[in-house]
Amino acid sequence: MINEHVVKILKVDFETHNVKKFIVEKPENFIFKGGQATNVSINSLRFRNEKRPFTFTSRPEENVLEFIIKKYPNGITEKIHELKAGDELIIDGNFGYFEYKGEGIFIAGGTGINPFLGIFRSLEPEKVVKNKLFFFNKTHKDIICERELSEMLGNNAVFSLTEEKRKGYLNKRASKAFLKKELTDFSKYFYVCGPPGFVEIVKKSLIELGVNKDKIIAG
Ligand SMILES: Cc1cc2nc3c(=O)[nH]c(=O)nc-3n(C[C@H](O)[C@H](O)[C@H](O)COP(=O)(O)OP(=O)(O)OC[C@H]3O[C@@H](n4cnc5c(N)ncnc54)[C@H](O)[C@@H]3O)c2cc1C
Repeated sequence: MINEHVVKILKVDFETHNVKKFIVEKPENFIFKGGQATNVSINSLRFRNEKRPFTFTSRPEENVLEFIIKKYPNGITEKIHELKAGDELIIDGNFGYFEYKGEGIFIAGGTGINPFLGIFRSLEPEKVVKNKLFFFNKTHKDIICERELSEMLGNNAVFSLTEEKRKGYLNKRASKAFLKKELTDFSKYFYVCGPPGFVEIVKKSLIELGVNKDKIIAG
């Protein structure tokens, strides 16, 4: 039987124009690792069985949980975005998703940053800075937690805007040519997360550039 928990929403804030950050109660003795996700539904008669996967972005030792959720039209995320402090969610036990295996290159598109945020926030700062992040978004206003990522990774956080030219930001799409130019060491771990098309292109390019499949953690 699935272990479900009803948790109250404590706080809701906008993270970007179409992404909200939800701080929710953490069930007692609830254990997860940075990078893991869980199934979430709204605790109402109409929506309680409409579960969708979302990533824990809070640190495992915090006494609350955090989810960063993007609103898509005509789906459950639109309903989740209507929720306020005091409303309730239902969450499952956590399930494995992205696991930190060691230093590497993190390549994210949009909300694909969430498991990486979960990982970075759960690692010691001196370990985080040894990793490199390429974070692709359409425009500057779409970037999730930009300041925090810059603080954690310094110059190792590289932001690319695919639909906006802006000083200090790359204006490149994720492609084989981009990866060939930007990457020097293909023997590291590569963590890839984003929309399905993004993940496919990056994964295929990395393999063509000689990265061992076992070193690619993608989803
Ligand atoms: C393991 C895992 C962890 C995830 N973690 C997060 C997270 O932390 N935060 C977060 O915001 N999302 C996350 N997602 C994606 C999230 O689960 C989906 O966005 C959500 O299920 C969409 O539900 P919906 O009912 O709103 O949309 P649906 O009714 O399923 O779709 C509505 C419309 O939005 C489009 N759409 C939905 N999801 C996406 C997407 N991801 N990319 C592009 N178009 C999409 C659909 O094509 C459709 O047109 C995660 C997914 C997985 C598999």
